[in-house]
Order: sequence, then structure tokens, then C-alpha cells
Amino acid sequence: QKRDPDQTEYLQYVSVVTRSLSPLLMKDLKYVEALERLIEPERAITFGVAWVDDNGIKHINRGYRVQFSSSIGPYKGGIRFDPKMNLSIMKSLAFEQTMKNSLTALPMGGAMGGADFDPKGKSNNEVKNFCHAFMSELFKIIGPNCDIPGPDIGVGVREIGYMYGMYSRLTAQTNGALTGKRYNWGGSRVRTEATGYGLVYFLEYMLHDNNIPLKGRRITISGSGPVAQFAVEKIIELGGIPLTMSDSDGFIYAKNGITLDLLKKIMYLKNVERGRLESLSEIVEYYGDKQRPWIVPCEIALPCAYQNEIQGKDALNLIQNGCFAVAEGSNISSAPEALKLFKQYNLLYAPGKAANAGGVAISGLEMSQNSIKLKMDPQDIKMSLRGIIYNIFEACRTAAQQFGDNDFDYSSGANIAAFLKLANCLFDEGII
Ligand code: NDP
Repeated sequence: QKRDPDQTEYLQYVSVVTRSLSPLLMKDLKYVEALERLIEPERAITFGVAWVDDNGIKHINRGYRVQFSSSIGPYKGGIRFDPKMNLSIMKSLAFEQTMKNSLTALPMGGAMGGADFDPKGKSNNEVKNFCHAFMSELFKIIGPNCDIPGPDIGVGVREIGYMYGMYSRLTAQTNGALTGKRYNWGGSRVRTEATGYGLVYFLEYMLHDNNIPLKGRRITISGSGPVAQFAVEKIIELGGIPLTMSDSDGFIYAKNGITLDLLKKIMYLKNVERGRLESLSEIVEYYGDKQRPWIVPCEIALPCAYQNEIQGKDALNLIQNGCFAVAEGSNISSAPEALKLFKQYNLLYAPGKAANAGGVAISGLEMSQNSIKLKMDPQDIKMSLRGIIYNIFEACRTAAQQFGDNDFDYSSGANIAAFLKLANCLFDEGII
């Protein structure tokens, strides 16, 4: 707090994690020391990105890479293009990623990066110019054995392609230093689907643990990017009823459930046309003015858009309308007031670091495939995804039982399981 009094988001994130680690911290002072070491990122880099738009006008954006922790393996985490980016948010997301990667049990450290660049409304050529300019700085600090960035908000296979192309030109290497690549040039099968599918698997395990079937449940989902799209697809497959999807302008509400047919239209609109959900208002109910889907009555909510997208008032709406479970597809989806309400009203709550770890887990498998220059079979990847999510769920449950003092919650379990592994690596390596 003394070092970074202005980093509100980061201070908020650290304090939420510290609170849930308290049973462990009170047990042994060495864990307090480990936490103090961990919350200071190993490196946080900013750099200027100069690029030219289609009218020949020059722009300067700020690029970031927070290499948070490498005690378990090389830095690994997304790249986000978002005009609201700042160092405080980057550090929060990098810490979250470090904890998530620890939970996957794969050899990956944690990082996060990106730029305050807004890809919305930019031409393909402008996005390419920006990605090339961004990579001409970033390539100096990444590589397959030290830091492997991947996709996040505003960065999909198109942007990864432009960045990877520039990385290969600058380094004369095609060594898989980015994940989220297209299958033809080094990507893994099931990567795009993995976060959304993994989220629904985690939800299924959590419900099953409480003797609640997923089938027939009415579920609100936010977002309409790949995480939301494949969560909706998996929910339909498992017999749940997905009611909503959103973008930053508003949301659609299908009272009888989003059908596969409607989902296909949404995928085409978002992935190919890069259009707005509002354009579907003739075929499905649409709520504009930046409204979020948390006003719709539901039993389960899956936030899959943006950090802090469930505020206290949204949590109250959800609870009053009968919601009993929340599983996070987006990172740090729920603000601290919302978390308090979930706890107060005994909601089943799956934090993003556990529930959305499927994407980075398959990125870990993409790294392995690139290293040995082999492609895994999609069925094997799907089975690995199921297995990894099950192991994460069990790790959270076991830690919650062990340290919960009758106050069982999957979120504390996730934080404790992730942190214990990181702390023990720090001790073994003599870093503290
Ligand atoms: P996308 O960028 O493809 O989609 C993000 C979605 O959130 C879009 O529908 C977007 O709408 C909406 N959104 C963006 N900003 C806001 C805002 N301020 N308020 C409301 N809605 C907003 O990202 P992904 O689907 O890849 O990721 C979604 C979330 O999941 C992110 O939080 C990401 O960090 C997290 N995540 C992603 C993983 C992955 O594998 N992709 C892995 C783990 C977590 P619009 O189109 O209007 O911008």
C-alpha cells in the first residue's frame, strides 16, 4: 500500500486474496513472508507502441507485460487490448493468472500483458499495423522457455496471427512463443472452446457436489466472445437453459433458452461480421443502454465478459431473483461487495481462477505439442481438459475442507491450494 497507493484495483485484489488465505497465514508466519514476496511482481514492463492508421495519422499507445512469477515455470498469461488498461489492472490480472496456472498443475508461471489500444472500429489493416508494432517491442522479453503470451479480451486468433508473424520475422524462430495460434500454424485443437467448456465442467462438479442436477437449470450468461459462446454450447449439450448473452452495449434474452440455431447466428455475427448483438433485436429480445443480464431471473449466473462485472447491486438482483450459484468465466468477475453477498446468502461460488482455467490448461498442452513438434488428437485433448478441471475442483474442495473451519467455500479453497503450491516452490528454490 505504501509503495503503490494509487493502484486501487491491485490493492483490492490483494486484500481479497489475503483475507481468504487467513487460516493458512495464521498457522505459520513463513506463509506471510511468502505472500509478501509473491505480491511484488518479478518484473513489470511498460513500453511505447507507435503505429499508423489508414489515414496516415500516427498514434502512440502504451504496452504492458507484467511477468509476475516464474517459480513454477515460464511466465504464461494473456494479452489484452483494452483502452481501460493500466498497470494496476494488469498486476491484478497477472496475480490472478499466477494463482490459476498453479491450480492447473502444469509447469507454468504467471503473467499478463497488453495495451491501452481499442480494436473496436479499427480496420483489419490498422489492427495488423498495431499488432506488428506491439510485437516489435514485446519480442525482446518473450520466448518459449521464458514467457509465452496468449489471447485475452480484444485478442483472438487474428491478432495472435499478426503478432506471431512479426515475432517469427524478428527472431527467425517458429518456436511457439505465443499460444492461441490457428491449428495450421502451430495451434492446438480445442483451445478456443476450452475456457467455456471447462467453466461448465467446473459448474457441473460443483452442482453435483451439492446434489443439484444441471439439467433444466435456467442460466444467465454475459459476454459473447469465445468464452461465452462455448459455455452456451456446452450448457445446451448438457440440458441446461442458457437465457442471455451480452456485449458492452447490452444483452439478448431468449425466454425459452438460446437454441443452437441462434447460437450459430451469434457466432457468425461476432466472429465473422464483428457486429453488435443489437442487430439481432428483430429475432430475440434485446436490452440496450449498457444493461447487464443480471436483472433476468435465473438459478445460475455465468459472468463471461469483464472484470468486476457483477457489482453489489447486481449480486442483490441475482439473489432476490432466485440465483443460487455463480461460476466465473471472466477473470475477477465479481466486485468485493458482490463476494460478500454471495457468502452472506450461501451461494455456491466458483471463482474464475479455478472455473475458467480450462483455456490456459489447453495452452499448456499447446506449448508441449510445439516443443515436441507433434499434434495431439482432439479426443485426447478433450479428455485431458475434463481431467484437469476435475483435479482443480478436487484441489479446491480438499483445501476448503482442510482449512475451512466449518466455513466451507470453494473460493478460499482455490486460493489456498494455489498459494500453497507457489509458496512451497519459493521455499524450495530459496527465493525467500
Ligand atoms: P472477448 O474479448 O472475445 O469477449 C469479451 C466480451 O465481453 C465481449 O462480448 C465484450 O463485448 C464484452 N465486454 C468487454 N468489455 C465490457 C464491459 N466493459 N462491459 C460489459 N461487457 C464487456 O473475450 P473472451 O471471450 O476471450 O474472454 C471473456 C472473459 O474471459 C475475459 O474477461 C477474459 O479475461 C476471460 N478469460 C478468457 C480466456 C480465454 O481463453 N479467452 C481464459 C480465461 C479467462 P464487446 O464486443 O462489446 O467488447
